[in-house]
This record gives sequence, structure tokens and C-alpha cells, in this order.
Amino acid sequence: MAEATTLTRPTSQKAEHFDVLIVGAGIYGVGGAYHLQQQCPGTRFVVLDALESFGGTWLTHKYPGIRSDSDLYTFGYRFKPWVGAPIATAEEILSYMGEVIEENDLARHIRYKHKITAARWSSKDNLWTVEAVRTDTNEKLLFTANFLWMCQGYYRHEKGYTPEWKGMDEFKGEIVHPQTWPESIDLKDKKVVVIGSGATAATLVPAIAGDCGHVTLLQRSPTYFVAARNANDVADMLRKLEIDETWIHEIVRRKILFDQAELTKICIDMPDFARDELIKGVKAFLPEGFDVAKHFTPKYRPWQQRLAFVPDGDLFQGIASGKASVVTDEIERFTEKGILLRSGQELEADIIITATGFNLSVLGDIPFTVDDKRVDFSQTVTYRGMMFTGVPNMVWVFGYFRASWTLRVDLLGDFVCRLLNHMKAIGAKRVSVALRPEDKDMPILPWIDPENFNPGYLMRSMDLMPKRGNKPEWQHTQDYWTERSELPKIALDGKEFVYGR
Ligand SMILES: Cc1cc2nc3c(=O)[nH]c(=O)nc-3n(C[C@H](O)[C@H](O)[C@H](O)COP(=O)(O)OP(=O)(O)OC[C@H]3O[C@@H](n4cnc5c(N)ncnc54)[C@H](O)[C@@H]3O)c2cc1C
Repeated sequence: MAEATTLTRPTSQKAEHFDVLIVGAGIYGVGGAYHLQQQCPGTRFVVLDALESFGGTWLTHKYPGIRSDSDLYTFGYRFKPWVGAPIATAEEILSYMGEVIEENDLARHIRYKHKITAARWSSKDNLWTVEAVRTDTNEKLLFTANFLWMCQGYYRHEKGYTPEWKGMDEFKGEIVHPQTWPESIDLKDKKVVVIGSGATAATLVPAIAGDCGHVTLLQRSPTYFVAARNANDVADMLRKLEIDETWIHEIVRRKILFDQAELTKICIDMPDFARDELIKGVKAFLPEGFDVAKHFTPKYRPWQQRLAFVPDGDLFQGIASGKASVVTDEIERFTEKGILLRSGQELEADIIITATGFNLSVLGDIPFTVDDKRVDFSQTVTYRGMMFTGVPNMVWVFGYFRASWTLRVDLLGDFVCRLLNHMKAIGAKRVSVALRPEDKDMPILPWIDPENFNPGYLMRSMDLMPKRGNKPEWQHTQDYWTERSELPKIALDGKEFVYGR
């Protein structure tokens, strides 16, 4: 792509130019860098991240026991074999990503401690101008780029989401959010309450149970868990047969994806059966007489939220051993000594951990303008959950809920590279997506149908998300199994793509 230095606004500061600017050095950003290098050789690109190193989620979260709840065969890249147990710690994921960076000499493209603060598109110049600030020196920097690849994740890294409860300021103990875990925290012999019912709470409770006096998992309503061995029989057998790791990765990945497709189908077609089976799996770890109906039988249907994997049933083993307990109730208010529940019971606590989720951040909290007009993403329609109407030369990453979030890394990597190569071939400097004449009467709907999927962080911030249509082109279908064959076949000369020179 052509070198360009003209800015949309007069400024004395010199901008550094790249063909492609990737925002974020998490799993997606690093994967994007790999694909650009492989599939668009010669492209000048940079990856900018606000944090001090790569890893995103796996760098930010430092609470005890932090681990994936997806298997790494599908969470990891298709091009880099995963050789460990399926569920991995943050440290193992960082080390896997570190190898990808080193083996492909990607470090020279990545700049840390660069927080992007604004992005402005100029149609006159066919160029993005990106403002960044160095988090260590406060220095303001300018970049220009022909194409933006937004790999910023989906939540604010600085601070997790904690609801406001009455009386929080009266509580004499410590309140901690797992996303900003204090290294100095001393849990020894303390009474700890973990508020939450998702994967984070399920990970934390068994991880700290041995250190605390007692830990209580306090949930408003239960979650579905899949409790199973942290091992993959197919991988173990193939390793015994001394099969090459590249093959093992591909075979196991396919097998897991096949099984997940079956499970999703069962959950949708036979929700009662699926629910009973999931609950049976949990029951197997708990003592006779444990109130599974109250504490581990969710009200929603099994496919409406992500199924949380509990390796070796460790959460339930903690409960069975008496070191941990579970309370299903609503919080009336915080008190000096702990938490008063709707039922009238008071849970005493020295430390309260709010595993209550994220603050959604749609595009890294970056203000965008197109030709000096502020972009309101909620007024755009998404093209397959990766581009927006009216926003040129930009691809945005939003992963999968039911399968590994990261399964789109390689699919989007292929798409972006194909699009860039196509633009080069036809001499286009600009591409945007637009509704076609046949989409004129298409209903424009909220980003996601809550009947289909309804995690709290999305429901809280749906007004920030782009809109969708009712055709596969104009929505994120959340269906990896269809997308893996459809995305490579997208006709880049279709009417929905509008090119400019
Ligand atoms: C504790 C935890 C466990 C999870 N476990 C799983 C799991 O098992 N399976 C699964 O599929 N998903 C899981 N997820 C979801 C998970 O976040 C993703 O799967 C994956 O790691 C996201 O990668 P990413 O690259 O898209 O985003 P992130 O990891 O969020 O990385 C985004 C990067 O972009 C940077 N960035 C954002 N805005 C800016 C800006 N304005 N300027 C500069 N840099 C910016 C951030 O600093 C960050 O480094 C988990 C999430 C959490 C919090």
C-alpha cells in the first residue's frame, strides 16, 4: 500500500506510517500479526498494546488458580500445536504465545505501553490517523495506517465490574475484584466470601480453599458446569503412538469441535435431557443429600450461557471436603461484618471477592471519527460481526461464545489477508461495507437475541453494540461450524463491498 503522511487535522507532530495497525497484543492481535506476516509478505504493520507485555487477558488476570475454561486445542492457534493438558493456566498460555512470537520473529512488530486514545478516518486521504499515549512517559504519539485491525478484546482491562450494593462502605473487611488482584492479600485463616457463579468464581474457590479459614461461594443463581478430567484421551493415545504433535493438534481440535457441535445440538434439541446429564455430572462429585436442585440447577436453558468447565470437578471436591460451601441467595446489603442475605442469614467475612464480571468495551474505549464525524457504533450494522457499515478500512474482532472465543483468530486472519491482497490486486485504497438494495427492508435488530444467548456483561451494555440484520451477512451468527466453510468463500467483489481508489 502507498506511503502517506497527510493528516486529517493540522498538527506539527510527525506521524509514523504503517500499512496495517493492529490494536491489541492478546491472542487475537498476535495471531493477526502472524497471519499478516505469512499471507501478506512485505506489509508494514505494527501491533500496539496498552499493557506492558503480550497476552491481554492472561496478563491482566493474576488471581489464584487463573486458568482457561476452554480446551487449548481449540483456544490455541490452528498453526501452533498445543502439547499440554487441555485446560491451561495463564502462565502456560503466556508461554505458548511467547513461543509463537519468538518462533515467528514477531516481537519487532509489537510495541507495548501504547494506549490508543483516538482514531480518525479521512476519506480524502484514505487514511486512519491514530493517537496513542505512552503509559510510562505520557508521551503523545501519532500513527497513520491504511487499515485498522481492532483486536482489543471485549472488556475494559483496567477495572472489573462490581455492582453497587447498599452498605458497601460500612463493611470493615477488604473488597477485592479478581481482575485487580492485590499481590499482598493475605487469605490465611480468613473467612472469605466469593460473590459470583461463573468460571472465575468456580476457579477461585478451589484455588484458595486450602489457604483460607473457609470460603463461601455466594451466588444469586446457579450456572451449568461440565465436570470432567483435565485430559484428552485421543491426544493421550496419539502421543503413545508417537504421532507428530502437528497431527495430534489437528485431529484433537477436530474431534473436540465435532463433540461440541453435537453437544450444542443436544442442548438446543433436547434441553431437558442436556440439563439432566449436566447436573448428573455435577452430582457425581457431591456428597449424598447435597441440595443440587438449589445450588447447581440453573433456571436458564443450557445453551443460553457459556458452559463452564471444571477440571477434575475441583470446585465440587472443595465443597465435598467442607473447605468450601455454596449459598444461593440474594444480597440484601453489606454490613460491618459481612453480607446480609434476603433470607435473613448473615454471612460473616473478612474478605469479599466480587467475581461479578466485566465492563464491556466495544472498541477499546477509543473514540472514532469518520471524516470528522463521531462514529456511534450502535447506529451501524455489522457485516458478519467483523466490519461496520460506514466505517472504512477496519476489521473488528468479536469471538464465539459457545466455542472457544479465539476460534475466529485464524478465520479472520485469512479473511483480512485475503481482503488486503484483493485490494492490492484491484488497486483499491478503501473498502467499506454497505447494505445492498435487497437488504432495504431487512429488519435491523439488536446485536444479539437474548433468547439465544444472554451473558450479563452483554445485556448490561447492549446499547453500545452494533446492530444486526436477519441475514447471515449482517450478523455475527456465533456459529463457528458454518463460518469455517463460509468465510473462506466470501466473494470479495460482492455488492456489500464498496471499494474506492
Ligand atoms: C479470566 C478469563 C478467562 C477466560 N477464559 C476463556 C476461555 O477459557 N476460553 C475462551 O474462549 N475465552 C476465555 N476468556 C475470554 C478471553 O478474554 C478470550 O478468549 C481471549 O483471551 C481474548 O483475547 P483477545 O486477544 O481477543 O483480547 P484480550 O485478551 O482482551 O486482549 C486485548 C488486548 O488489547 C489491548 N487493548 C484494548 N484496548 C486498547 C487500547 N485502547 N489501546 C491499546 N491497547 C488496547 C488490551 O490491553 C489487551 O492486551 C476468558 C476471559 C477471562 C477474563
